[in-house]
Amino acid sequence: MLQIRPPLQASTTKYAQQLRRGFRWLRFDAPLEAEYRAYSHSDEYVRVLWFSALCLLLWGGYGLFDLWRIDAARLGAGQQPLLTALRVTRVAVTVAIALVLVGALWRAPMRWLHGALMGLGVALSCGAAFAVYAYKVFGVPHETAVLVMIMLGLFSPFAINLWAQLAMAALYLACVGALAWVAPQPEVQAQMLRLGVELALAALVFSFAAYWREHQRREQFLYRGDAHWLAMRDALTGLYNRRMFNHHLEQVMAQARREGQPLALLIVDVDHFKAYNDLHGHPQGDAVLQQVAQVGLACIGRPLDIAARVGGEEFAVLLYGSSAEHARALGQSLVAGVRQRALAHGASPVADVVTVSVGGAMVQPEDRPQTLFARADRVLYQAKNNGRDRCHWEAALQA
Ligand code: GH3
Ligand code: MG
Ligand code: MG
Repeated sequence: MLQIRPPLQASTTKYAQQLRRGFRWLRFDAPLEAEYRAYSHSDEYVRVLWFSALCLLLWGGYGLFDLWRIDAARLGAGQQPLLTALRVTRVAVTVAIALVLVGALWRAPMRWLHGALMGLGVALSCGAAFAVYAYKVFGVPHETAVLVMIMLGLFSPFAINLWAQLAMAALYLACVGALAWVAPQPEVQAQMLRLGVELALAALVFSFAAYWREHQRREQFLYRGDAHWLAMRDALTGLYNRRMFNHHLEQVMAQARREGQPLALLIVDVDHFKAYNDLHGHPQGDAVLQQVAQVGLACIGRPLDIAARVGGEEFAVLLYGSSAEHARALGQSLVAGVRQRALAHGASPVADVVTVSVGGAMVQPEDRPQTLFARADRVLYQAKNNGRDRCHWEAALQA
């Protein structure tokens, strides 16, 4: 039976390549890793906000519960310092949660927030371990409910990744071990150690879940990036396609109007390209289109500039914020750039190498995308009629 391979197999985007290579250690190659982080940080503030608000509710509520669960009057004088330490711990951890909450609300830098989250995880889990320890020493029943807090702090799937989770689990185990070490009664010691082992096992299970969660999130990012790239690009040249060009033109025209910036459109068309294909063959023609695309790409430099393939052998270059003089100079260098590639054209009456003609127009206040494009197209055909291998502008701009 014929099997259709999924498009990913044929895709050569950086996303598809990374998918094929895999990312067992939850890390992409450098530029993609930065892109992934920027992508995942976009909703991270909301996640951290929910996480810290929930922590505050549970930890604060649990702290208040102490007030009537622990009868301070019935504790011996020797146990008073431990009670004070428990209260100080309650307040300190509450402050740590509040700090993260405020940081997320004020959109503190993500690097800072990640550090604070790690600190909070450790404070929360060690604070909860200390509370368990204090209850056991006081002989207060039902203390294992505190485990809920420990779980939340240590293994919450909300805001921390696998490595942070493992680091926190290790710190937590060290904390429980230290508490077992200082415990006065041997049975408390044994109980703390048992708690440590139970939590270590839980840590393994939760870490495994965290690994898969992040793996899937990364995989989704790559599939999404691949599909998005393919939908916006031309397969042959890698330039933006007509659909993306139309979209971008509309956006950038609105922005140019708002900001009073000039906007130039150049339309580039390969001269006598049908004859080129007929003589040199279609594959060779494809290679020429790739070369012309490279020259077009070299013209753009600012963030809102784009080069796109808008037809078979037609390209468009949009220059945002470029004066008419600058755009005209770029148009000339585009024509010269293609010539300099010295791609032999055996059937062109214009030259013995591949040449292009360029039509340029500056956006006018009353322009819509179609009218700007139509004006540039009109001057392109003037350039064609005037001998090709040249860049033409509307009369008012023509040098
Ligand atoms: P002019 O100088 O007036 O622009 O003449 P021309 O021959 O370039 O223009 P025409 O529109 O007659 O022909 C365009 C040619 O471009 C025809 C088509 O075979 C070729 N073409 C369009 N898309 C591709 C492509 O993806 N690859 C190749 N190799 N050729 C293409
Ligand atoms: Mg054409
Ligand atoms: Mg042509």
